[in-house]
Amino acid sequence: MNYHVDEKGYYGRFGGAYVPEILHKCVEDLQNKYLKVLESGSFKKEYHDLLRDYVGRPSPLYFAKRLSRKYGCRIYLKREDLNHTGAHKINNTIGQILVARSMGKTRMIAETGAGQHGVAIATVCALMDMPCVVYMGKTDVERQQPNVKKMQMLGATVVPVFSGNMTLKDATNEAIRDWCCHPSDTFYIIGSTVGPHPYPDMVARLQSVISDEIKKQLMEKEGRDYPDYLMACVGGGSNAAGTVYHYLHDGRVKIILAEAGGEGLLSGKSAATMQLGKEGILHGARTLVMQNEDGQIEEPYSISAGLDYPGIGPIHANLSETKRAKVLSVNDDEAIAAAFELTQLEGIIPALESAHALGALPKLDFKQEDVLVLTVSGRGDKDMDTLCTQENLRMRRQDNE
Ligand SMILES: *Cc1c(COP(=O)(O)O)cnc(C)c1O
Repeated sequence: MNYHVDEKGYYGRFGGAYVPEILHKCVEDLQNKYLKVLESGSFKKEYHDLLRDYVGRPSPLYFAKRLSRKYGCRIYLKREDLNHTGAHKINNTIGQILVARSMGKTRMIAETGAGQHGVAIATVCALMDMPCVVYMGKTDVERQQPNVKKMQMLGATVVPVFSGNMTLKDATNEAIRDWCCHPSDTFYIIGSTVGPHPYPDMVARLQSVISDEIKKQLMEKEGRDYPDYLMACVGGGSNAAGTVYHYLHDGRVKIILAEAGGEGLLSGKSAATMQLGKEGILHGARTLVMQNEDGQIEEPYSISAGLDYPGIGPIHANLSETKRAKVLSVNDDEAIAAAFELTQLEGIIPALESAHALGALPKLDFKQEDVLVLTVSGRGDKDMDTLCTQENLRMRRQDNE
């Protein structure tokens, strides 16, 4: 079984590149060039120098003592929340802007949901002195104001999108429309392991620095370079893909993916794509898609803007279908409880997205000697208004009494 992309751009029956005629050449150029660029000495040097000196890598692998005691195993947190800009997204945007530059592209566009990808793009565009346009659903513009202000301060043009339920899927549609109008000078920097081939593979490779570091850090701390469990949240799947990349073919390692259950799998308000989705084509790839009987996209819902997406990276659709990964859905209230728990036990306020990975811990049975690595994909600063409602704070006080 091969869990990586095949030479045609597929993971099992998922993936591929389903793009309009006008983008065909752009996508084909990228397919022909991305591996040559990623494997070139000059790219590797610039990418890794920036990851070290600008992003602050390697990110720590932190042994969470009190959390471990609570769940009866050895839990390490991979601290992507400590990266510059506060999440794992910057690993990918630095890589893609270097690829774009080497292909002679001069204008960057992107979609964003939580605004984390938008901030990561606006940051690297400031760094590389390139113009950038970020599409963002109007609902997200409203619920993620601090990130909108950051993007603007960094010099990006933020375009609110008014179609659909005005979230990530709609922003992605708009970014693709822009790309169709400017195929020659514009590079579309996709924020997750989604989109037409080669994006899912390119993004997974750029994020694979996460599992590269986990191997070295575990060796130092545990005397072996693999854990028993890897856990991560999945929106489109990039932090999860980075976390599991170098372990996909290591049968000793169990993979747990946490997707957003919203208000519950059967509530009609969910974003649990791997459990609720059916095969379809979304944003250039064949994957699992939340859709009705006529193939119309169902509006997803999650309290977390970064997980509120009706599709899923093809790599994960395949991991789920082949049962290489165990997929759990974590509801809004479980994620909030998990965010408070990590804060209380370890003094780390996680992003709401990452809190979904933490919210899967109570759903599993561990042995005392199990070693687990859980990726904290980002920090909670952007989510303070959602996390600290009066009601959540009151529940927290009651828990303490
Ligand atoms: C965007 C985001 C996610 C979801 O994206 P993936 O591609 O699934 O990783 C998760 N966590 C944080 C903090 C994010 O910003």
